[in-house]
Amino acid sequence: MSDRSALTADQLAAELQAFLAAHHPGRMPRDPAERLAFQKAWQVTLFDNGWSGPGWPQRWGGMGLPLPLQAVYHREMALARVPVPPNNIATIVGPTILARGTDEQRERWIPPLLRYDELWCQGFSEPDAGSDLTSLRTRAVPDGDSYRVTGRKVWISSAAFADWMLCLTRTGPAGSGAAGITCLAVDMHAPGVRAAKLRDMTGGAHFAEVELDDVVVPVAHRIGAENEGWTAARATMGYERSTSLSAAGMRYQRVTRDLLELARRRGLADDPYVRDRLAQVVTGARLLEWSGQRVLARVLEGGEPGPLASVIRLQHGTFEQGLHELAVDLLGPHGQLDPADPALERDGAWLRGFLRTRASTIGAGTSEIQRTTIADKVLGLPVGSAPPIKSTRSSR
Ligand SMILES: Cc1cc2nc3c(=O)[nH]c(=O)nc-3n(C[C@H](O)[C@H](O)[C@H](O)COP(=O)(O)OP(=O)(O)OC[C@H]3O[C@@H](n4cnc5c(N)ncnc54)[C@H](O)[C@@H]3O)c2cc1C
Repeated sequence: MSDRSALTADQLAAELQAFLAAHHPGRMPRDPAERLAFQKAWQVTLFDNGWSGPGWPQRWGGMGLPLPLQAVYHREMALARVPVPPNNIATIVGPTILARGTDEQRERWIPPLLRYDELWCQGFSEPDAGSDLTSLRTRAVPDGDSYRVTGRKVWISSAAFADWMLCLTRTGPAGSGAAGITCLAVDMHAPGVRAAKLRDMTGGAHFAEVELDDVVVPVAHRIGAENEGWTAARATMGYERSTSLSAAGMRYQRVTRDLLELARRRGLADDPYVRDRLAQVVTGARLLEWSGQRVLARVLEGGEPGPLASVIRLQHGTFEQGLHELAVDLLGPHGQLDPADPALERDGAWLRGFLRTRASTIGAGTSEIQRTTIADKVLGLPVGSAPPIKSTRSSR
């Protein structure tokens, strides 16, 4: 596979443009099963041609690009409107296994994860443990060379079609909080695993409730030491809130241009009030891109995102909600239609985005939790009467 890490920005852009012109698979199908197969096939094409994992080590199948070239990569992908991956879990679980796993685990899981031959999900939340994640109760009981895992996870994105779950379990006594958590890779096809799809307000079934009933997990599938899973969990949440969003920053540059085009089509581009809101979106998209690069730089230097991840997650969630609110306002009365209404034509995507982004200030930790983390860990403010931050989804 060719090493592109020493190319200039222009050379990389030219090579990628040529590749995309020759291999672009076209528009994604709407049917969920066809869409998933289509997205996976595109990831295989990218991997087999050496265009996967721009920032990942070459040893494990990535491209090992320096930061400025990663920015070029994401920009060209966004401009070409290529299909997005089936989920962004690879950019959440992958760095965790790279940072916390053993070489055997990296060898076993990273290349198929990058090629999307195996899909992962992230099994953290439980019915009674969301923001207060360290109170989780899914038990893992040691049994020879294995653990026997029993419990319930909820809101798990992609769980219904995932092959593996990065799962937080309790191995310490009840009430041991962060000190008694162990991180395991659970085979979603193992006996005792059941995933029931949950439908959301977009009409899609993107997440599921997962029941684990005496599931046998080899000790070799433990990520990090027993009772030290919270360290891995914090790192994972940091990646989820930050580096996994860096490509989205680039994509939103393009979406912002589409929004400007919508304002022109609707004859509202000269309205002073609309112009003011458009300016906020354009500025927000830039800030998002730069914040993404800032955190990527930190991770590439060997650090973890830390509390900066909460800043980016909050920025990202509120930005994409605001962008879609403006789009719906620009659509006027059409903004009240069902996204699938033929009268909308391609503008249905704005309404689907509007519905989808309602969850952007909940998933990966709510905005309230991000604000508390920022107040506490970034600004050093007193957190008042809120529950102690160490018991919540803080990414410290
Ligand atoms: C689209 C989407 C995808 C998701 N995917 C996954 C996934 O793949 N894997 C996974 O494990 N989970 C996933 N989740 C779950 C998500 O992590 C939780 O919903 C989130 O952490 C909040 O937990 P909760 O729903 O239990 O709400 P709760 O924790 O019960 O919070 C309810 C309300 O109370 C507020 N609150 C709670 N504690 C505090 C506090 N200390 N200070 C101030 N306010 C507080 C919250 O901000 C919120 O407004 C997903 C959620 C969504 C929406």
